Amino acid sequence: MIDTIVLAHRVNGRVIPGQARFEQVNPADPTDLRVTGPEADAAVMGDAVAAARAAVEALDRQGIEARSDSLAAVGHRLKADAPQLALLIARETGKTLNDARGEVLRAGRLFDFFAAETLRNVGEVFDSVRRGTAVEVTNEPIGVVAAITPWNFPVAIPAWKIAPALAFGNAVVWKPSEYSSATAAALMEIIAAAGLPAGAVNLVLGAGAAGQALCEAPGIDAVSFTGSVATGAKVRMAGAERSLRLQLEMGGVNGMIVLADADLGNSVACALNGAFFAAGQRCTATSRIIVEEAIADRFVAALKERMASLAIGDPREASTQVGPLVSMRQKELITRQVASVEESGLRPVVGGTATTMKHAFFAPTLFDAVPVEHAFGMDEIFGPVAGIYRVRNFDEAIAVLNAPRYRLSAGLCTTSLSHATAFRRRASAGLTMVNVPTAGIDYHAPFGGVGGSSYGPREQGRAARAFYTVMKTSYICPG
Ligand code: ADP
Repeated sequence: MIDTIVLAHRVNGRVIPGQARFEQVNPADPTDLRVTGPEADAAVMGDAVAAARAAVEALDRQGIEARSDSLAAVGHRLKADAPQLALLIARETGKTLNDARGEVLRAGRLFDFFAAETLRNVGEVFDSVRRGTAVEVTNEPIGVVAAITPWNFPVAIPAWKIAPALAFGNAVVWKPSEYSSATAAALMEIIAAAGLPAGAVNLVLGAGAAGQALCEAPGIDAVSFTGSVATGAKVRMAGAERSLRLQLEMGGVNGMIVLADADLGNSVACALNGAFFAAGQRCTATSRIIVEEAIADRFVAALKERMASLAIGDPREASTQVGPLVSMRQKELITRQVASVEESGLRPVVGGTATTMKHAFFAPTLFDAVPVEHAFGMDEIFGPVAGIYRVRNFDEAIAVLNAPRYRLSAGLCTTSLSHATAFRRRASAGLTMVNVPTAGIDYHAPFGGVGGSSYGPREQGRAARAFYTVMKTSYICPG
């Protein structure tokens, strides 16, 4: 019998049920799991924002040591519960068990990192131009932060928003993706048991309408959003109208250059991982593989061979390397996008729409000899799809790399120090990766892109403080 999970909002420490308005099934096996949940309306948002507002004061009264302990407790539980949580992620979103486990452990470490940051909110003291007066700069909480998160990293992305928000004294109203809300509810359970004031984190469920209602809820001070370019634009408009502080992480059309002097085995492994692991559903995934002509035939042959031996299957199996897309809706979208590339005259050398797969699986797809001026790779295809660009030299490679508007991560495979150094200078991207895949980032270093990929301050690491605090400059004269 199908396992059904019925979800509810959690506001001010209380469970608030509602009529089921969205549904997600296991995308690899629709007979396994069904998740349903309610849609938060303006009234639920109002209650959540009021609870969060009260919690900002309660967090201040509780003090930084208790708060740091709470964040550490969440980190500890995440690491201890990683196997169970990973299975839920695999069943709900189709992410492979190994990837899901790695993600939960990383989320645990994110909470550990921000548990320590809670105790490190240092300020600055200046001598004043007025003798006897001191000037102090402190980093204060911004207040009530709305967090709107996607399904592709259903624990790590919420963690890298919620943990710094709390660390710096803010309260959160969190709207997770409707495709990963059971996982969100499981994370919320852990947060709710960590000793934070009621209302420090509130979980409001639903699809786009709930996200929009949250952006429009009176009383929020900031929105941190991760998701698609189109939705990010809506959030930016809603936020700009009301002068909210905004942090938007959106798509990337990421390129990786392979020079003729690169280690062939490693560059093929980087391309395989970057383009097809996580079924291409990472905003740092490689969609443009830019290869120097001199080695292009050898590189493509080796990549095709590795693609043929990818273990595609049930994400609950430990041996699976590539699972399905998150939903049938997403499969329909990717199918339409790939079909339109095929109609433009490009023929896939592996996969494509002719390779049919069951449920929400989509065959890893590779196009070869994509013309530099072709529209492919200008907009994100959020699936296991990549194109090979054959270029004459490094300069041409850099021009192809920097052409798209969405530039989050850029890669280079080479054994040349001078090319690696020039690449770091000339690649226009938020992340540059040499001899490692474009995807796969550390949890304690800043994260974000350039061009249309990101808007607002960086996420993660010590950089996170810029978004989650507001500077206060105080002049104190003893009188
Ligand atoms: P994807 O589902 O492909 O990750 P989306 O940008 O649609 O990308 O979703 C990211 C998050 O934004 C999800 O939590 C989603 O429900 C939410 N969302 C969708 N539409 C809106 C909107 N108009 N305003 C605010 N949030 C939204």
